[in-house]
Formats: sequence, structure tokens, C-alpha cells
Amino acid sequence: MDVRLFNTLSRSIEKLEPINDNEIRMYHCGPTVYDYAHVGNLRAFIVNDTLRRTLEYLNYNVKQVMNITDVDDKMIARARQEGVTIQALAREYTNFLLADFKALNILTPHKIPHATEHIGGMVVMIEKLIRDGYAYTTSDGIYFDVTKSKNYGSLAQLDLDASTESRIESTGEKRSHRDFALWKFESKDDNGVAYDASFGRGRPGWHIECSEMACDSLGETIDIHTGGVDLIFPHHTNEIAQSEAVNKKPFVRTWVHTEFVMIDGQKMSKSLGNHTTLKTVTERGFSPLSFRYFVLGTHYRSKLNFTWDALDGAQNALKKLNESFRELPDGGTPVPTELANFENALCNDMHITWVLARIWQILKEEPSIPPADKKATILEFDKVLGLGLVNVKKETIPSNIVALAKAREEARKNKDWIKSDKIREEINSLGWSVEDTDKGPKIIRLDVQE
Ligand code: AMP
Ligand code: ZN
Repeated sequence: MDVRLFNTLSRSIEKLEPINDNEIRMYHCGPTVYDYAHVGNLRAFIVNDTLRRTLEYLNYNVKQVMNITDVDDKMIARARQEGVTIQALAREYTNFLLADFKALNILTPHKIPHATEHIGGMVVMIEKLIRDGYAYTTSDGIYFDVTKSKNYGSLAQLDLDASTESRIESTGEKRSHRDFALWKFESKDDNGVAYDASFGRGRPGWHIECSEMACDSLGETIDIHTGGVDLIFPHHTNEIAQSEAVNKKPFVRTWVHTEFVMIDGQKMSKSLGNHTTLKTVTERGFSPLSFRYFVLGTHYRSKLNFTWDALDGAQNALKKLNESFRELPDGGTPVPTELANFENALCNDMHITWVLARIWQILKEEPSIPPADKKATILEFDKVLGLGLVNVKKETIPSNIVALAKAREEARKNKDWIKSDKIREEINSLGWSVEDTDKGPKIIRLDVQE
């Protein structure tokens, strides 16, 4: 089955054609590690993970790389504020990020290059750009001349019509307002963060960092590059211009962009101060996997409105899913037609919302599928969803807890509410809970993460 993905370059859904056999080389723009990731960032990373899982499920050999931006203006400003080095700041927030990944069941990318480990490669790229006439020097740095780039701005569908452009003044020493910094010369503002280079000591611009790390880890032309939609312009547009000017080859075959997480009608972002972290989410009683379920419930190319009510809905749905799943017996086999439809949905621009809906139908509306086969089928689906269903096991409830639950039921029948409440407290103190459902009392372990 052909995998079809929406390619931002053509603004259409295209068949994915790997450069090498069944190998997919995929690069994701990672975070700038000056602070905690917010749930908007985490949505983008969950989408990356779902894409990797999708491709691996479909038997591609995926090489996944996500960079860490550990040198830029924000890093320098925050390090100065906290009185630490950018290295220490990066270490701290990279560790927090990887802890979030673990909690969200995001597979660790095969490579996580840090920009500061790649300065030498960036310098070599900039030297080539200067030598070939794509870059020029001003008093504060080295700039890329966008007029030298073939098809500059095509990813972002920029209108470079001269009549429109001429109305925008070029600034300072830059030849055009669209020219961007490849390198910033050392200055008093950079707090000592500067590296040697043949063209002058300083530090790299953000865009060249990704061009270098993508090429170094995956090659001159890569299969898939992802990021949030905010990166289409200028970041990805400028990555293309630099990489193609240096390598004289197409940089990326398929560009995949994740839409924003919105809050009160605005993009969630640190600069707007409207962001929420995973830490806040868990402090408010939500499990990280509920957030993952919440993200999977909206197609990656649609905006996702973050509200606590919606997250509550996702948490309840996941809880119900775990409960229903837990009742299914082992020993079945996946249903071939279900797997075929599942693959079809994945190949259709990662139609994960269809998969979630189908799980509910299988659980509730398919009496002809034996329960054990339902379980085996849903477990296959979860290889891509990553909701951790493989860890959801039927509990063996200790006999003393069963006896207490029975005694409580008896007390309830006799309308002895004081006694029944007391027994419930005792059950809780032993690490279990009892919930009254339509089908009678249900005993659940308290520490089960749902
Ligand atoms: P940053 O650390 O800001 O460079 O962002 C890391 C990743 O998160 C990038 O791929 C961004 O495009 C993405 N991102 C940032 N804000 C949002 C948001 N509100 N919703 C979804 N993705 C976002
Ligand atoms: Zn990037």
C-alpha cells in the first residue's frame, strides 16, 4: 500500500517515494532548550512520533533525527538571567524534555544532535556560501543573499513580485529585507558565547544550524522534514535556500507541518504567556497519556483547541478504553480486514482519528469478532497510537479486597451507609478503589495510570 502524505511543498497529498529502497530519513526541528516545552511543542513531537510509528508499522526502516537548539538569543538571555552557562541550561531543559517524551510514550529519536556540537560543520557551509557568492559580510555578521537563491520562498508561497517587494525597505546594511543572518559576529550582548571562524569569531544563525545537522546526520537530500506550521517561513524556507545553495541538490522531498495548539483563539506560545506545560497538566490530575489521547483525537493538519474540559473528556475516554480493553482475554489473532483498513487509514495522510473511532466500534459494535481477536487487533493499532495498552493488564484482585467489597455491598443493601463508607475507606487505604457501575461494583487498583 502506498503511503500518502500532505507535502507542504506542493500543497497536496502525494505518494511517499523513499530515496533508498524502504529507508526513510526523517528530520524534525526540535526545541530551543531555554525553558520547559509547552503542550503546543509537545503536540508537534507527538505527531513526529506517530509518523515514525506509522512508517515503522508499514515496514519502513526509519532513521529519525531531532535536533536540540542550544545556542541562540533566547538561550543566551536566559543563561545570563539564571547565571549559568548555555551548556548547563541546555542540559537541564533537555533532561526535562526527555522526561516528557518518556511520559508521553514518545520513542527517543535515533539521533539528537545539539547545535553547539556542529559549529565546525556550519562554518564550512558558510565558507562555501561566501565563496560561491550566496553570502556577504556586514559589520555585524554574514548574511545570505536571497536573490541568489533559485525559487526562494516557494515552500511558503511567498509573493516575491518586484512591485510588492519594492514597497518594503531594505534595512541597514542588508541588501534586502529578506536576507537573513548565517553568522553573527561576537558582540558584548552574547555573554561570551562565540566560536572561531575564518570569517570572524561569532555564533551561528538559527537556520544554518538545522541545515548542517540535517545534512550531517541524514545526507544532502532527505525524505521527510517536519516542524510546526510556524516554521514554514522563515525557518524552513531559509533552510532550503542554504542547503540547496551548498549541495546543489533538492534538500527535502516531503515537508510535513503540524498545525498549532490554540488557546482562547490564539496560538499557544511562550512569548504570549498563554502556555501550559506537561507538569501543569499532571499537577491538575491528568495523566500524560490522556494528553496524548487528546492530541490523537484531532488530525495533525487541523488546529487543536486546548481546554481543560476537552482534556477531561480525553482522560475519561482513555479511562473507558483501558477498562474495556482490560476485560478482553488474551490468545486471539488480529482480524485481517481490520488491519487492512487500519493500514489504509495510516496511508491516507495519517488518518489517526479514524483509527480511534474504529477502536470504539470494534469494542462496542462488533459482536461477531471474538473478544480475544478484538484485543489482538487493538494491540496492533496501539503500536502506532502509543497509548500504552500493552501495559493494561487484567488485575488479579486480592481475596481480602474482594471480601471487603462484598461486605460493602451487603452494607449498602442494608442501607448502612456509615458502614459502607468505612469499608470503602479501608479498601482505599489498601491501594484499591471500588466504583459503583450499572453492572455492579467495580474494583480498580488506585495507582493504575489512565
Ligand atoms: P520551539 O521550541 O518554539 O522552536 O518549537 C519546537 C516545535 O514546536 C516546533 O516544531 C514548533 O513549530 C512547534 N510549536 C511551537 N508552538 C506550537 C503550537 N502552539 N502548537 C503546535 N506546535 C507548536
Ligand atoms: Zn530547524
